[in-house]
Amino acid sequence: MRIFHKISEIKSEIKNLKKQGKKIAFVPTMGFLHEGHLSLIDEAKKNADIVISSIFVNQKQFNEASDFTNYPSNLEGDIAKLESKKTDILFCPNSSEIYPRPNLINFEIKNLADNLCGATRQNHFQGVVLVVSKLFNIIDPDVAIFGEKDFQQLQIIRRLVSDLNFDIKIIPGAIFREENGLAMSSRNSRLTSDNLNKSPEIYKILSAAKTEILSSKTDKIHEILEKAKIKLSKIFDKIDYLEICDEENLQIVKEFDKNIKSRIFVAVYAGEIRLIDNIPLY
Ligand code: AMP
Repeated sequence: MRIFHKISEIKSEIKNLKKQGKKIAFVPTMGFLHEGHLSLIDEAKKNADIVISSIFVNQKQFNEASDFTNYPSNLEGDIAKLESKKTDILFCPNSSEIYPRPNLINFEIKNLADNLCGATRQNHFQGVVLVVSKLFNIIDPDVAIFGEKDFQQLQIIRRLVSDLNFDIKIIPGAIFREENGLAMSSRNSRLTSDNLNKSPEIYKILSAAKTEILSSKTDKIHEILEKAKIKLSKIFDKIDYLEICDEENLQIVKEFDKNIKSRIFVAVYAGEIRLIDNIPLY
């Protein structure tokens, strides 16, 4: 695997690859890689000749300073994992390479960022869209893989690509879970052992709510969600949100309709650590 830190150097490498007619797949990450990230590399491999991943902890998408400073990192371990998956290229720029001066241009995201993480994480998605646009312009991939774990991010990126005419196919990657159901996340490494033991309850509670919703009357979803909220609040320190949203527009669903694809979305705090998950209601 070749590793690049400088934009000019990776750009000239990509120019060469494109001249040879290579199809490029891109998997952006913030590092501290786990099997969820690696499943996206597998997906990338299926869809291109060359797989490029990036590791960049984007300060602009963190709304809490301590979350940024404490974000886990292990570059050596990440490199070994990417090499084990035969990733071709890793791009890991430092912050001043990506943000050489304060940016004066910012994005405004309507509707898709109104609910869920967009409602509680001030400017999070503006930061995501800014860095992803920069990375797309640097890497110029044919396809890019984004995990359904961050479903709202996936939908916003799809819309970014369409609204700004990026010629990039966005491919979703299914949520990769621990055997106990906990969605893998770099932040899981920061859970206390007590909270790590409790965290699989998120998926269990979502799955139970899903079963109930799919087998009950459409107007019962409010009650079912309230019950799930009570269960979650007995286990976790804070519920950020628990909502059913339409998959396409991410607007909150008041009455469940089996013909409209929707998902249950959750964010909870286990101590300081914010955990998110979602499951489809179909
Ligand atoms: P991150 O490093 O958290 O920014 O994530 C980088 C990419 O990996 C994003 O597209 C995430 O949605 C995806 N990802 C993170 N965790 C998982 C998981 N458990 N399963 C599948 N994809 C994931």
